[in-house]
Amino acid sequence: MAFDRLLTRDRTTRLRLSRQLMGLASYLMFLAPGLLAVHWGWTLFDYRGLFALVAAAVAVNGAFFIAIRTGFSQRFADPTLLVPQIVMALALAVVTVHFMRPEARGVMLMLYVAMFFFGIFGLNTRQFLRLAVLAVASYAGLMVYEFHGRGLNTPMFRLEVLHLVALMMITGWISFIGGYFAALRQKLAERKDALKDALAQVKELSERDELTGAHNRRHLMRALERERQRTSRVGATFSVAILDIDRFKQFNDVHGHQVGDEILGGFCALVQQCARDLDVLAREDVDESFGRYGGEEFLLLLPHTPVAGAMRCLERIRETIEATPFNTSAGALRVTFSAGVAEFRAGESSANLLARADAALYGAKRDGRNRVAAARDDTTPMGRVT
Ligand code: GH3
Ligand code: MG
Ligand code: MG
Repeated sequence: MAFDRLLTRDRTTRLRLSRQLMGLASYLMFLAPGLLAVHWGWTLFDYRGLFALVAAAVAVNGAFFIAIRTGFSQRFADPTLLVPQIVMALALAVVTVHFMRPEARGVMLMLYVAMFFFGIFGLNTRQFLRLAVLAVASYAGLMVYEFHGRGLNTPMFRLEVLHLVALMMITGWISFIGGYFAALRQKLAERKDALKDALAQVKELSERDELTGAHNRRHLMRALERERQRTSRVGATFSVAILDIDRFKQFNDVHGHQVGDEILGGFCALVQQCARDLDVLAREDVDESFGRYGGEEFLLLLPHTPVAGAMRCLERIRETIEATPFNTSAGALRVTFSAGVAEFRAGESSANLLARADAALYGAKRDGRNRVAAARDDTTPMGRVT
């Protein structure tokens, strides 16, 4: 779309450029009083002069638009170029005022209000005040230029003094109020960011198991559901494995609960490490696809993996766990686990898939533990996994 091309899709730049267009609209707004002033002879220029001024305003605005749109303005501390833009507007205002008769100049003060109002998009009070000083000083300079060597005890000069005082008050007032609003905006933006961070942290914590640091059941259920929907959409497959530490209760009974906890932590770390080393699982997926399902049971999702591949993968993990002594405060301990593996079948619910994996796990326990079993429906008629 043409508007997209003009403003880009980049959100920040887009916002800046739409502000730029607002600025242009504000400039053009003053065309109406300008036309009336020219019409009634309150300006020292004619219609051509007015259009020259408007053309200058549009050109200045266009130049800033291009500087922002092309990314050129990124090299400055404030890529919105807010201060330079207001300074340019001030310069244009002084030129315009100079070519107006004093009777019509009061209207021009409104131009200053519009100009300063844009400062709310990002100036602090100090920056505002500097611009206010610049506005007042340039107006005072104009008065010195116009009245030097002339009598000051005239209604014209008094009117200009009145304008100057009003300008001082208006710009000073906007500086404080505007600075206050800008600070408020800033604070709100910071709060929003802090809240977003906090929310992300809460979400992360709510999906982690406190003891092992691995993902918890809540996360696993969501990940499983996501995988199920993704697989159904693309017509692929995946498997799940439930891992249950063998005779875990005995570790607790013999060595105490603390040692049991240590084993749980060590088990998590080792399975994750092992799964990461296996080609079947994409490295970055492991943390997402593994977690503590409950007690001494763990769940591993194997995306894109049919049951045969999942069995091979679990067998490798089983061998590693069996061969690796666990360093605990009660010394080195040998740990084994049993696992049930099931491959997703089209249209099946997560609960059904898990129930089949659980039944396979039960079979592995019954057959003597320290082994991996496939869900019965996933085996061939010969009883072997293909
Ligand atoms: P099996 O080989 O049949 O799986 O036997 P098991 O002893 O591993 O199974 P069982 O279900 O009888 O016992 C599991 C034990 O795990 C019981 C429970 O006290 C213990 N347990 C569950 N959660 C924790 C935990 O967070 N920390 C510790 N230390 N123990 C836990
Ligand atoms: Mg158990
Ligand atoms: Mg157990």
